[in-house]
Amino acid sequence: MTKILYVEDTPESQRLVQRILAAEGFDVVIAEDGISAIEIARTEMPDLILMDINIGGLDGYEVTTRLRTIQGLEDVPIVAVTAATLAGDRERALVAGCNGYIAKPIDVDLFPQQVRSYLVGKKEEVRPEDKEDYLLEYNRRLVKRLEDKVRELEKANEELQRVEKMKSDFVILAGHELRTPLTVIYGYLQILLANPAIPGDVDQEGSPRHLLKNVSEAVERLSQVIQDILNVSLIDANRLDLAHEPVFINSIIQSVLHNLRNFGPQRQLIFDLGGGLRKLPVIEGDPRRLHQALWNIISNAIKYTPDGGTITIDGRVEGDEVHLWVKDTGVGIPADELGHIFERFYVLEDVALHRSSKTAFKGGGLGLGLAVAKGIIEAHGGTLWAESEGYDEEKLPGSTFHILVPIGNPLPTDRV
Ligand code: ADP
Repeated sequence: MTKILYVEDTPESQRLVQRILAAEGFDVVIAEDGISAIEIARTEMPDLILMDINIGGLDGYEVTTRLRTIQGLEDVPIVAVTAATLAGDRERALVAGCNGYIAKPIDVDLFPQQVRSYLVGKKEEVRPEDKEDYLLEYNRRLVKRLEDKVRELEKANEELQRVEKMKSDFVILAGHELRTPLTVIYGYLQILLANPAIPGDVDQEGSPRHLLKNVSEAVERLSQVIQDILNVSLIDANRLDLAHEPVFINSIIQSVLHNLRNFGPQRQLIFDLGGGLRKLPVIEGDPRRLHQALWNIISNAIKYTPDGGTITIDGRVEGDEVHLWVKDTGVGIPADELGHIFERFYVLEDVALHRSSKTAFKGGGLGLGLAVAKGIIEAHGGTLWAESEGYDEEKLPGSTFHILVPIGNPLPTDRV
């Protein structure tokens, strides 16, 4: 069956031409605009193309010129069909690469015959003495259109950057505004918890001290979330400034574990801290940020490992870098997701099943944790990646997160 691609954006014309040509036994495919016309022509390889000139995106002339460069479409008949009947329109269509020109409104009786004539090889030509002038005019028009498009894109891009900056400024500002009162609340809660006059015990369900402890955990969780949102915005905007100091990785890990063990539901997990950690040298880095990165990675290991599992943390020096790894015996990560989990807002689970917790088994988060961890490690000149044999809630293949950070120059040279 002879296949005809009709490039046209008005539905009435599409319907009319489709009806006439289908009645003649042709198979008609429609493209609505210039870019999709190129894609469809490439995949459908039609026997003839009817090209409306005034279409969105690239116009019919430009699409024709482009189609002529596609392998297999160099010689396919392309016929301009358009209402534009200004002097020179026919020649413009021909120099752009069309074989001929059918004026709109189409003559219903004549149309099938006109189409057939192009199918059997009709080809109109521009008078040789006019050809150069029309080509020159076409060239100039193309360059002008290109200039207009580049200007439009530049303007749109500037606008996008402006909006993006406003958004990230807002998030950073909102993050700071939220953090300040939270710090005060957290501080007062600790003072209250340290006050012996508060009755009850932290483990005594329902006692004032137990309630206060719960509030304190919720506040801590809230500030971690705000911290992640703030960090991801700073990382995005390339504004994550590091306050470099000598860093004891082992103490950071101890502090993260202490902090994580102390809040959230009590989990039955074994923490296996390898002997390599104590031997790690002091490195140069921002301890607060590294704490956050390790907190996010280790809390994930806890979250995605069921009770009874083991979380192994160890490290060693490799060249001028420290290599740390956090290995769990949890649900694991599907191979095709390993590259995506570091994207911001990326969560593997169905959002409808979302449960918010930083330590409960499979307690969900915002999907920012790993993006922040990666941003922080990379800001230190390091690398963060994950390995896993796949996701399986029964076999529990586990995951390993690897962190490489340069040792750097932890002590100012005048003190060495
Ligand atoms: P979330 O806040 O959802 O934990 P993260 O950025 O920390 O977001 O992690 C992104 C996703 O990567 C998680 O939703 C989870 O599916 C997967 N993931 C991260 N760490 C682990 C792990 N140790 N084991 C299994 N899956 C993990």
